[in-house]
Amino acid sequence: MIERPRTDKLVVDLRDLRKTFTLGGAFPWSPRREVYAVAGVNLQVREGEVVALVGQSGSGKTTVSRVMLGLEEPSGGEVWLDGARWDGLSERARRPSRVRFQYVPQDAMGALDPQQSALEHVVETLTVLGGHPPNEAHDRAMAMLERLGLAGRRDALPREMSGGEQRRVTLARVLALEPRLVVADEPTSGLDPDRRGSVLEDLIGNLPPKAACVLVTHDMSEARDWCHRVLAMLAGRVIEEIDLHAASPQHPYARVLFDPWSGPIPKGQLQAEGCPFHGDCPDASGVPGGRCRAERPELSLVSAAGAAPHWVACHAAARAAASALLPEADGAGGAA
Ligand code: SF4
Repeated sequence: MIERPRTDKLVVDLRDLRKTFTLGGAFPWSPRREVYAVAGVNLQVREGEVVALVGQSGSGKTTVSRVMLGLEEPSGGEVWLDGARWDGLSERARRPSRVRFQYVPQDAMGALDPQQSALEHVVETLTVLGGHPPNEAHDRAMAMLERLGLAGRRDALPREMSGGEQRRVTLARVLALEPRLVVADEPTSGLDPDRRGSVLEDLIGNLPPKAACVLVTHDMSEARDWCHRVLAMLAGRVIEEIDLHAASPQHPYARVLFDPWSGPIPKGQLQAEGCPFHGDCPDASGVPGGRCRAERPELSLVSAAGAAPHWVACHAAARAAASALLPEADGAGGAA
């Protein structure tokens, strides 16, 4: 992990974020119904922090990242960026600030203009979005291409670039704007394992010092190796928030997610009552009263006082954390 100076100042503050979609309704036999993609996500990211959103496809992580930047509107909750309300604004009202909040798309090739060279992509971004005069934009663009090892490829068109070079051009466009927040949606997807680390090094190593970064990924080693905190999502909710450098996952779904030898991973039940993982969970039988099936677990703190905060939404993990405190209390009582 690249060391970065961090402060307590919030860059991202998502409060009870929700997003629903309407399905059906086109035919009499297919009634309209609302399904949620995101169901009450809270997320804070501070200056200098790199936070991973992990989960399988359909877990809601990409929707959270898109709503965060205003690429989609939330159905409920609030989005605050850099201390100002961001959701509900018109595009016109957002425009002056949009340059500070940048998105790195998953499909690098699709995001590039087939007719533009690497240099032209970055210069255009700096002039059109960043408002820089052409000469200054040119110098800044060249400096960024140099930092990302693309100076010798300045005239290459997207079809002449490797997958890694295409990613670097999308990164160069974003980083040259000196953003306050970068949300990177699976920026290494489709690359060879040995190229993924260098793309993330280029991204995180070239962030402005006080910028925050949200890395959306399904690659657990990326989350572990490059991020300060990890939020694991299942069925539209955060089910664990953890500093992987300080603790190990406790939620049964997150344990499977982070185990490279686990085989196929159950997806959970999106609209389930109770815990969305109860149909597949090996720990549910240890929770009395059928609680896993009946009651949705909320995030609760399972870390000891003074340790890095560790939150898990699981009845079994909450019971284990509570009983871990009991012997201490008993011991203290006996000594007295
Ligand atoms: S709440 Fe119950 S079903 Fe859900 S993960 Fe925890 S033990 Fe398993």
